Amino acid sequence: MIGLKPLKIWFVCGSQHLYGPETLAQVDAQFSEITAALSKDGKLPLEIVQQPVVKSPAEATELAVRANSDPECGGLILWMHTFSPSKMWIRGLSQLNKPFLHLHTQYARELPWDTIDMDYMNLNQAAHGDREAGFIHTRMRLGRKVVAGHWSDPEVHARIDAWMRAARAWDDWQGARFCRFGDNMREVAVTDGDKVAAEMKLGFSVNGYGIMDLVDVMETLADSDVADLAASYENEYNVVDALKKGGDRHDSLLNAARQELGLKTFLEAGGFKGFTDTFEDLHGMETLPGMATQRMMAAGYGFAGEGDWKTVALVRALKVMGHGMSGATSFMEDYTYHMAPGQEQVLGSHMLEICPTIADGKPNIEIHPLGIGGKADPVRMVFNAKLGPALNASLMDMGNRFRLLVNEVTSVEHPDLPKLPVARAVWECKPDFKTALSAWILAGGAHHTAYSNDVTTEMLEDFATMAGIELAVINDDTRLDRFKQDLRTNEIYWHLALGVKA
Ligand code: MN
Repeated sequence: MIGLKPLKIWFVCGSQHLYGPETLAQVDAQFSEITAALSKDGKLPLEIVQQPVVKSPAEATELAVRANSDPECGGLILWMHTFSPSKMWIRGLSQLNKPFLHLHTQYARELPWDTIDMDYMNLNQAAHGDREAGFIHTRMRLGRKVVAGHWSDPEVHARIDAWMRAARAWDDWQGARFCRFGDNMREVAVTDGDKVAAEMKLGFSVNGYGIMDLVDVMETLADSDVADLAASYENEYNVVDALKKGGDRHDSLLNAARQELGLKTFLEAGGFKGFTDTFEDLHGMETLPGMATQRMMAAGYGFAGEGDWKTVALVRALKVMGHGMSGATSFMEDYTYHMAPGQEQVLGSHMLEICPTIADGKPNIEIHPLGIGGKADPVRMVFNAKLGPALNASLMDMGNRFRLLVNEVTSVEHPDLPKLPVARAVWECKPDFKTALSAWILAGGAHHTAYSNDVTTEMLEDFATMAGIELAVINDDTRLDRFKQDLRTNEIYWHLALGVKA
């Protein structure tokens, strides 16, 4: 994955001096044991780094300042092994600008019924120490994830895993640069938005470049480098004969390779993590990049069509969350419906640009005309998507806030599509077609989404908490009447919560 930096999670244990050095030594030893257990096998996506036990206001403040200034610290896991009076955390927590997870656990799993005495009771105090911590977090209106359960429980590990993935994506957005060739597709509303608000709230910047800036780079590339890249396609994919070396349309494959190398060179030089283009601004380009864009997405770049910078950022975030899993995350568009009664499905695709990480098998490389744009025929990868659980996520600018909308879906088998030469996915929506579509429309969800087989609603919930933005979820628990009321309630909550800072 391009541009992924090393990131660590700090594990923090709270206590106080009241217990004396003997008890604190025990706290420290048990804390180390839990750190080692959580780090065992390297199953969690980020490394856990144990911090000194926090026992005073000065230590809590010093911890927060140190976490803020360490670029490798992606967040904190807090746990109060013993009672840690939480007014001592106020100064530190009020400065902390990294996400945190409150792990509500206890060192010992089972109560030693026969031997339990007051010393044991005083050592194993998370049951009320963490309540004291939870109060101050809630009193200070701090967004965080709370995970309750014994630290050996695989379910607890799964909750931490999801949060770490969200934390990595959140850190990845901070200072991220996204490139916009041209402007928005003319007159389209949902793909537009406030880039200043996005940078303030979400941490990434979006800036525009002329498509000729890319053309200039493409023209500097050596023919031999372009030919080498085009040759590599023949090993990696099923390339149709006409595009192969010696085929009568091989020049188009060379052009696709030149677009890919040009994009790679341009985006690397600018330190970008994603880009968008538009078929309405292709001056100097032979055609809209199809395969080149698909290859860039597979390398880890965020992408969305038609100037849709919000979905660019979202695709990148979901790719980062799914890093180390199957890797299957793509730009997607709800394109058309199958409305046969009882078998309703959505056919998702785009003009060209679906990421081959979601491909079921080896993609074909083909060339066909594009109905719009008035340019040469673009080369593209054609494939069906992997089957199984997936989700669509969409980020909208509601004017006073950003809303993240999620629909859980299932990618299903479908008949051959011999006359549709683009990559595609067919899915069924949860809880059902009509409820999902009605809810999506009511929430103002876009036609563009980030689609993933890896990312879960839990990860996106954690991500929305870190970002401090609204989340709306459409899944098996969704009832339309309740969903509509939640949207109305959210209007009030977010209006008050963000106030004039939106
Ligand atoms: Mn589109």
